[in-house]
Amino acid sequence: MFNDPCLEPLFPRRHVEELQTSLGNKTLYNSVSACNRCGICAAVCPTYQLYHQENFSPRGRNQILRLCLEGKIKLNKENRVLREALISCTLCGRCNEACAAQVPTAEHVLEMRRALGLRVLPRLLQSFLQLRDHKPRLFSTLTRTALILRRLWVVKIAWLFQITHLPGLTWINHLDDVLPARIIPLAKVLAKANVQANQENPELIYLPSLEAEFILPNIALATLRLAQKKYRTETWQNTATGLFSYVYGDLRQSRKMLRKLLARHAKTGNGKRPLLTDSVDVYLFLKRAPQLFSGRKLWQERAQNLAQNLLFVTDIFPTDSDDKIPSTPGSVQLERSALFERQGPAFEKAEKILTTLFGKNFVKCFYTDADTPAFGYTFVAPKNATRMSLKTVEKIARLQTQQVVTLSGLAALELAYVLKKFYPAAQATHFVHVNR
Ligand code: SF4
Ligand code: SF4
Repeated sequence: MFNDPCLEPLFPRRHVEELQTSLGNKTLYNSVSACNRCGICAAVCPTYQLYHQENFSPRGRNQILRLCLEGKIKLNKENRVLREALISCTLCGRCNEACAAQVPTAEHVLEMRRALGLRVLPRLLQSFLQLRDHKPRLFSTLTRTALILRRLWVVKIAWLFQITHLPGLTWINHLDDVLPARIIPLAKVLAKANVQANQENPELIYLPSLEAEFILPNIALATLRLAQKKYRTETWQNTATGLFSYVYGDLRQSRKMLRKLLARHAKTGNGKRPLLTDSVDVYLFLKRAPQLFSGRKLWQERAQNLAQNLLFVTDIFPTDSDDKIPSTPGSVQLERSALFERQGPAFEKAEKILTTLFGKNFVKCFYTDADTPAFGYTFVAPKNATRMSLKTVEKIARLQTQQVVTLSGLAALELAYVLKKFYPAAQATHFVHVNR
C-alpha cells in the first residue's frame, strides 16, 4: 500500500496527520498536490504583492513543501530564502479564498515551520506568551505586574536608558505603541458596570480571548452584556485554547491545551453547553480542532462536539429593531483580518448585521483590498506589517470610511495604532462595540 510521504517520519506528532480542508480531510501530501500552479492566488497574497518573487507567493510555498515531501529538496533552517518565505506568510488565508481548488496554504506553511522548528516571535516574547499554556496563574500575575510597571513609566525609563534598544528587546517599544495608554483590570471594569461574570445555573460558557481578558477588558464587558440578554452565562477566565502553540510553537502543547479545554467542556452540562468566543481567530481554530486528534476517537469526538457547540459573537447579536443604532456615525466597513480564512458564517453574519444596522453607510469591500495583518505579525515581520498596514490605511482613506469594524481584539488594536498614526479621521472598533 502506498503511504503518503511525511515531512518528518521520526516526529510525526509535530504534524497534523489529516488536514481538515473545505473539500474534505486530506493528508498533507494530497493537500499540497491539489495545487495546480495556476497562480491565481498571487494577486491576493500580500507578501507576493510586496516582493513579486515566487518564494513569497502561495504557489511558491506549496511547491517548496511538495518538493520537500518528495525528498527532492532538503528542509534546512539555515536556508535564508526558505526561512523568509515561511516567516513572511501572514497566515491570512486570502489564497484559500481565491483558489478554485481551495488549497489551504496557510496550514501548509505552518507544517513547514514545524518541520524546521522555526522560532518565529522574539525569544523573550515567545517564552512569556507560552507561560499562558504552561503556567496560566504565573502568566496572569506577570501580565498584571507588567501592566502596573508600564503605568509607572518603567518602559519609558527603560527606553531613555536605551535598554529597550538591546537586541531581542526592541519589540517592547512597539508593544508600548500599540497598547492603550491605560488598562483597567477586567474585574474592576465588570464591577463598575455592575455585570456579573458568573451567573447561577449557567446556559452558556464565555471564553474571553487573551486580549479581552488582559488588554481590552471592554470587549469582555460588551460580550457579557450581549450574552446575558439571552443566556445565563459563566466565564472561563485564563483558559488557553492551544491556538498560540498551534501557530507559533508546538503542536504537542497545542493538543495538551485543547485536551484540558475539551475535558472541562465534556464535564460541564453533559458537553452540550454552548461556548462563546469574541475572537474570530479562536473561533476558526476551535472549529478545526478535530483535525488535531485523528486516530484518537474520544478526543476527536469531544473536539467535534465542542466545534458544533461553538458560537461567535455574531451568533448572539440582537437583530430586533430596538437595538438598531440611533444615528449612523458616517460610513462603516468590515475589516476581514483573520487567521486561516476570511470567509464563512462569522464574516457573512457580521456583514449582514452591519448592513442592517448602518444601511447605505455600510461599505462593502472586495477581497483583493488590503487588510491589517494581525495575531502578532508586527513582531514577526515589522517592515512587512507596516507596508501592508499602509495599504489598509490607503483603502480606508480612499473609501473615506470613518469606522472600521474588526472581528478580533488584536486586529482592532493593530488597526487602531496605524490609523492613529496615518489616518486619524477613522477609528477601529471591535464588532461587539457597534451595539452601544
Ligand atoms: S494555491 Fe490554488 S490558486 Fe494558488 S497556484 Fe495553487 S491551485 Fe492555483
Ligand atoms: S496565507 Fe496569506 S500571506 Fe500566506 S501565502 Fe496565503 S495569501 Fe500569502
